[in-house]
Amino acid sequence: MKEYVGICTVCQKNVYCLEGFLNGVVVEGKLVCLACEEEEKRDSHKNKN
Ligand SMILES: [Zn+2]
Repeated sequence: MKEYVGICTVCQKNVYCLEGFLNGVVVEGKLVCLACEEEEKRDSHKNKN
């Protein structure tokens, strides 16, 4: 079962919920796909001192 959830606010790709598993995360009310979430993690890690 594949349920459309919304559009990634970073890459504008469609984000789906697959068998109850959301193919992304909601950060501060914004939908972000898993690929972009990984990028964000890397970026925030990089920006730390
Ligand atoms: Zn994305």
